[in-house]
Amino acid sequence: MTRPDRTQADSLADRLSGLDLPGRLHLIAAEIPGRLVFTTSLGVEDQALTHGLAMAGLAKGRVEIVTLDTGRLFPEAYDTWAETESAYGIRIGAYAPERGAVEAFVRDEGINGFRRSVAARQACCGFRKVEPLGRALDGASGWLTGLRAGQSANRAETPLAAFDAERGLIKLNPLADWTRAQVDSFVRENFIPYNVLHDRGFPSIGCAPCTRAVKLGEPERAGRWWWEQEEKKECGLHVGRPSASVQPGQEPAI
Ligand code: SF4
Repeated sequence: MTRPDRTQADSLADRLSGLDLPGRLHLIAAEIPGRLVFTTSLGVEDQALTHGLAMAGLAKGRVEIVTLDTGRLFPEAYDTWAETESAYGIRIGAYAPERGAVEAFVRDEGINGFRRSVAARQACCGFRKVEPLGRALDGASGWLTGLRAGQSANRAETPLAAFDAERGLIKLNPLADWTRAQVDSFVRENFIPYNVLHDRGFPSIGCAPCTRAVKLGEPERAGRWWWEQEEKKECGLHVGRPSASVQPGQEPAI
């Protein structure tokens, strides 16, 4: 099987730009051979994408829908997960952190040790999210996400499709050019299940201890790792391939 490359990704990005969501998803499924994985965070964009995949008949096998169960998610996220499975008759697979990494971090840093430093926080994201993501994407040709360019300054250049040279796959962001208002309307009009925390001031939802509600006028991701500087505020899933073996106190490559 031919592996995806940069030329294919660029060509695909061009052709995706003129299509609606069903057209984009069908083109992706047709153009990318092999394993396609959608990593859902169960946030509102990802719920819109799950709905799109289900309506396109792609959610039961052609695209594997999985989530990274960090063990620190809000109870409402688990409710959304179960509700979504029930609504669409699908399974959302789980990738969990390695037990030994969790036990070592809790022993050495404490249960909420990720607050001690940026390095400790990135280490926690490393073993709870990035390492499981690597396993989820192992052997995949395409990686679907619900990223939008409007989510934050860090994501302003999010393309519809791009070659991820480190993982050897094409990363696909079919909602990259959607606004938050478009996503909310789409979810409302299609009665898509969503996390109730979105109605309580949480525009972006991650792990419970690292997410707070935002104030009126604050950026969408202001409630994520709010104690850190803006440029540090990514978990490492979407900013290159970090090492999962980063130790607290070291500066991780993410
Ligand atoms: Fe750990 Fe917080 Fe990152 Fe979740 S968001 S993996 S709890 S540091």
